[in-house]
Amino acid sequence: MARRSPDPLGAVRPGRRPSWWLREALAADAGQPVRPLVGDTTADVAIVGGGYTGMWTAFFITEQDPTARVVLIEQGICGGGPSGRNGGFVTSWWDELPTLVDDFGPDAARELGLLTDAAVGAIGDWCVDHGVDAWFRRAGYVFASAAPSQDRAFDRLLEACSRLGVEDACIALTPDEVASRCASPILRHGVLVPGAATVQPARLARGLRRVLLERGVTIHEGTRLVGIDRPAAGRRPGRAPAAAPNGPVELRTDAGGVPGRIRAEQVVLGLNAWAAGWPWSDRRLVTWSSYIVLTEPIPGRLAELNWTGGEGVADARFTLHYLRTTPDGRIAIGGGGGRAGWGGRIGATFTDDAGSARLAAVGLSRFFPSLADVRIEDAWGGPIDVCDDHRPFFGTLPGGRLHFGHGYSGNGVGAAHLGGRILAALALGRSDDPLLALPIVGRGSRRFPPEPFRSIGAFVAREAIVRREQAEDAGRPVGAPLRAMSSFPRRFGYRLGPD
Ligand SMILES: Cc1cc2nc3c(=O)[nH]c(=O)nc-3n(C[C@H](O)[C@H](O)[C@H](O)COP(=O)(O)OP(=O)(O)OC[C@H]3O[C@@H](n4cnc5c(N)ncnc54)[C@H](O)[C@@H]3O)c2cc1C
Repeated sequence: MARRSPDPLGAVRPGRRPSWWLREALAADAGQPVRPLVGDTTADVAIVGGGYTGMWTAFFITEQDPTARVVLIEQGICGGGPSGRNGGFVTSWWDELPTLVDDFGPDAARELGLLTDAAVGAIGDWCVDHGVDAWFRRAGYVFASAAPSQDRAFDRLLEACSRLGVEDACIALTPDEVASRCASPILRHGVLVPGAATVQPARLARGLRRVLLERGVTIHEGTRLVGIDRPAAGRRPGRAPAAAPNGPVELRTDAGGVPGRIRAEQVVLGLNAWAAGWPWSDRRLVTWSSYIVLTEPIPGRLAELNWTGGEGVADARFTLHYLRTTPDGRIAIGGGGGRAGWGGRIGATFTDDAGSARLAAVGLSRFFPSLADVRIEDAWGGPIDVCDDHRPFFGTLPGGRLHFGHGYSGNGVGAAHLGGRILAALALGRSDDPLLALPIVGRGSRRFPPEPFRSIGAFVAREAIVRREQAEDAGRPVGAPLRAMSSFPRRFGYRLGPD
């Protein structure tokens, strides 16, 4: 192990190659080749997006209607987007119980907690049933204070768990109990969310792709949606379908300059942050980057840190750090502050931003000063689809044939499984499916301002939030102007930034 250079990233720069996860998954199994779409085709259900949302939707459609002709298109390769690049935390929404209660009331909050918790287990069972070795490990995650400013972060959570009779969903941990799972000198007390798991995210995505191909789903990679011809794109996402559906939808596609067309009875749009660039998403999303760095293997050092149980770890910042280990003894750490995108465009900000990756690397140094000699071997980033309250929403556009799901706000690995079930029910017209009565279906969400105000506001808020949280981490006082600027999104009703 060489001593780390003064730049915590060393010589590593994000954006030069696919994520370590994707390279590892493709090396293990490159998968059956598929062709881009050339010319015209038809489908009962066309799905756009080869991430978890699109692929779980396709999977649940094949479960419920094996005769349905499903065509899935993906502009890159399946799992090449955030589904193959994320931190691999598979979490329920138990840790969001207080705001779920605020928004939806105790009964719906409890139901959403149970459903998302069941999704975590279902992903693990699915991997076993389908022979997908996605390194699924249900070791829980430790959500801990990493500065005095975060010490009260768990009070409402523990109180809500107790009030709703789900005390086992989040268990209070003393500083010693945190240290027995992960001995970082900055970690204080926290909670254990025992039902959470981790996966190798790209292995899960590529496993889904394999299973879909085995089930007869037609997949066209390298095929980009460029236009939707009918019904006209509406302006009121999330509302109930307009009265009578009026004829199949036509999707125009482009595969390296070669045009194609899909005539489909139903369409599911699982575009994640890319949805923000389409008018039908109606300013309900802002795009934000998130970056991860990965160390060389250090299994012996993990043992010295007591961190051998496979738990995920996160602090309680708004620009949270999330950390996990790999079976060969690496640490992957993400977060610390990404950047907002402009106008829904997904460009180099989301893949090549060394500054944002460096914040994750600085986080590693802060969590584990004793690992100063450990080399960073990789860094990568991707876009997340942030909505007003950090909670995904699913719905149908006017016309009744175009269904969408997004707004995971960087927390979609577990939730996309539930999202796929919801979108399959919408696409198959199963209006009696109880999942369609959940408050995350057909709900409105608060719009963001138009450009350039959206990006300027996001930039100002981001700078203030990162500076405030860095000051709090360092124990420096936070002045009133910085405090006010970092919390201005909340004053306008967006649940973004620290309280
Ligand atoms: C660095 C990072 C770390 C994260 N860590 C976690 C974590 O630990 N836990 C967690 O729960 N969540 C995490 N997330 C978020 C998580 O990855 C997402 O919520 C989840 O992958 C969403 O799945 P999806 O299928 O909706 O989106 P995606 O995986 O983004 O899939 C959407 C796909 O649509 C394709 N597409 C877009 N436009 C078009 C078009 N016009 N034509 C054809 N295809 C198109 C894209 O190429 C993409 O592959 C993280 C995200 C990032 C970026």
